[in-house]
Amino acid sequence: MKVKAFKNEPITDFSKPANLKAQQDALKDVRKRIGKTYEIIIGGKKIKTEKTFSSINPSNTSEVIANFYKGNKELVEKAMDTASKKFETWQYVPAEERANYLFKASEIAKRRRFEINAWMILEGGKNYVEADADTAEAIDFLEFYAREILRYSEKQPLIPVKGEKNELVYIPLGVGVVIPPWNFPFAILTGMSSAAIVSGNCIVLKPSSDTPMMGKLFYEIMEEAGVPAGVINFLPGSGSEVGDTLVGHPKTRFISFTGSMEVGIHINELAAKVQPGQIWLKRVVAEMGGKDCIIVDSETDVNNAAIGVVQSAFGYQGQKCSACSRAIVDKAIYNEFVKKVKEEVEKIQVGLAEDNFRMGPVCNAKAEKSILEYIEVGKKEGRLIIGGGKAEGNGYYIQPTVFADVAPTARLAQEEIFGPVLTIIKSKNFDDALKIGNNTKFGLTGAVYTNNREKLEKAKKTLLIGNLYLNRKCTGALVGGHPFGGFNMSGTDSKAGGRDYLLLFTQAKLMSEKI
Ligand code: NAD
Repeated sequence: MKVKAFKNEPITDFSKPANLKAQQDALKDVRKRIGKTYEIIIGGKKIKTEKTFSSINPSNTSEVIANFYKGNKELVEKAMDTASKKFETWQYVPAEERANYLFKASEIAKRRRFEINAWMILEGGKNYVEADADTAEAIDFLEFYAREILRYSEKQPLIPVKGEKNELVYIPLGVGVVIPPWNFPFAILTGMSSAAIVSGNCIVLKPSSDTPMMGKLFYEIMEEAGVPAGVINFLPGSGSEVGDTLVGHPKTRFISFTGSMEVGIHINELAAKVQPGQIWLKRVVAEMGGKDCIIVDSETDVNNAAIGVVQSAFGYQGQKCSACSRAIVDKAIYNEFVKKVKEEVEKIQVGLAEDNFRMGPVCNAKAEKSILEYIEVGKKEGRLIIGGGKAEGNGYYIQPTVFADVAPTARLAQEEIFGPVLTIIKSKNFDDALKIGNNTKFGLTGAVYTNNREKLEKAKKTLLIGNLYLNRKCTGALVGGHPFGGFNMSGTDSKAGGRDYLLLFTQAKLMSEKI
């Protein structure tokens, strides 16, 4: 099968009036369809239960975006049975055919791009560019993993053994449980799910309860692309009931999770317990939180570094696992840097995502409460530079907030806040900055701004960070170019969007024939 070389999907330029209008029209159109109730889908059959839950617009909490029937333990059984049965045949579907479903899905997502963005703007509180970049990343995942399975299905190199014909193939694992987060509600969900199925597995997909509509859209797109019923089973529900039952189920062969450290640890523990009738050790792919740093050295353009830090810290309200939450700044330029950061943050306006404000709301009431609590902690642990409380509006709005003079061991410098809060820490010199950089339990993303080549090389060698960027911001990883995943409590370093990723959903089988 001949396919064109992979290329990243470009982001829509909303400074062009036609694009802006297309997005606004899509929002109007989607708004006509909000408030509906959607079923669980197992084996292609739509199922209603007694309970429903609602997905709320975080920009305007009076507005219900969609309602979903809530999964339960009985439906976990049904979904696992259905997926296991489907796996008996899906595992033998040729890789080319499986790849083609992803290529078709990519075309459909491109066609429905503004509509997908619109749902995300309303359900996730992203501004236009953030939503569009998320959809573009999902398209990239589909295109990339389709090509990857073709590569994995090629003849694999082995050292020749005399008198034998040897062959190694990558076969799927079985039934997987896919548990994505809400913060890249389309991209991460699509990437995790499509990688699992293109490798020949069947899945039960439990979307995040904050963004279930994005899971529903993914399901629709895969259905339209022709993916057979039962390969993907769509089971919204609570993490503690549906999630735990899925993870603990003896027929679950692997769990692909992206979310917080706390839930990741819990899933890892639960998955490790072998259940009666279980004949394998479950594989856990867990991508978790971060406390990402940007080191700003004395030998750098302070303005440029401050802009990079502010973009990394406040894009999508600081709710990116890759967001900069610690700026570690050399004492020689510290005051100048703090001043410049303040000036940049003053420019950020907070408001409705659908009106395309640079900063929108945080995702839900629980997040809002937790972030505001951290801001109160910050008022004791540091010097408030700007922000420091709720912002106006009928949603979960928080002011972009900056604290300076925070100790590297303070809670603000150690715990993931996952909101628009930046902590600035003073370093004595570059070596001290590297030490502070490594001094958390996480290791996801980070960046270093310096013009000094030796310092860059030292940072490359010593910072224990899965995605390290030099003289640029620490968000915005591109599929293919920046395989993504972190160290330590940031996860199992899966490197989503990279050449190693599909290995996580396959196992190698060796066949040796005497000739
Ligand atoms: P979360 O841990 O609260 O939830 C993630 C998913 O787990 C959701 O679908 C949720 O319903 C489910 N869940 C909750 N409890 C469960 C349980 N007991 N059993 C099974 N499933 C359960 O995280 P979130 O708030 O959705 O996402 C934000 C977090 O995700 C942040 O910590 C962020 O850093 C992290 N994240 C990491 C990456 C990465 O690549 N490392 C990417 C995006 C987000």
